[in-house]
Amino acid sequence: MQENIEDLILLQDIDKKIQEIKSKLKSIPSEIQELKEKKENLIFKLDEIKTKIKKLQTTKKEKELDIQSLEDKILKIQNNLENVRTNEEYKALLREKARAEEIIMHTEDEILEIMEEIENLQKEQQKLEKEIEIEASIIEKEIQEKEKILKDLEKELKHLEEEKKKIESKIPSNLLSKYKMIKKKGLPVVAFIQDQSCSGCYMVIPPKLYSEIIKGKKVSTCPNCGRFLYYNES
Ligand SMILES: [Zn+2]
Repeated sequence: MQENIEDLILLQDIDKKIQEIKSKLKSIPSEIQELKEKKENLIFKLDEIKTKIKKLQTTKKEKELDIQSLEDKILKIQNNLENVRTNEEYKALLREKARAEEIIMHTEDEILEIMEEIENLQKEQQKLEKEIEIEASIIEKEIQEKEKILKDLEKELKHLEEEKKKIESKIPSNLLSKYKMIKKKGLPVVAFIQDQSCSGCYMVIPPKLYSEIIKGKKVSTCPNCGRFLYYNES
């Protein structure tokens, strides 16, 4: 009798461990996925900066070309100035030249701003590259650790399942099926008796049943919650 209840407790301990391992086996893969995404995000951020820099460099080149063509235009105007015949024409050309010079100045300012922006982004890029170098190796290590834990847990689970089979084979089938039925409602299946009460539902155990359990006559269940009851003499 006592042997049976002890086996049931053993089985319950194993079931508890199996449950814990299974829930870890469920959560670890998503933790690994999160780490991978964290790493990808860092690289994505870096790519974004690189793209921004490239865009700015293209814009800068375009503006430099604009200046070039305006300078060509000014040269042409200067040539034309020597050949004009009327005062009106002369004034018009001068105005056109002044406007071109103004645009050049404005564009040069814009180029300076772009260069500053590029410089800032390049600094940010360098900082991020260093960060990624450090962070990525930390993340990689964490991933490897978690993958190792996964493997170990799978091994442990296999071992526990084998242990479970061994113990189940020792338990009489009627008790085992009862155990499985109670387990469906959730652990614990075996409740200890504390102060003459069931530790599963806290109901006071009727005196007659209580004395039977103490004498260890049979494996009993709680009349209220149905769990197996176990009395620990010590
Ligand atoms: Zn109970």
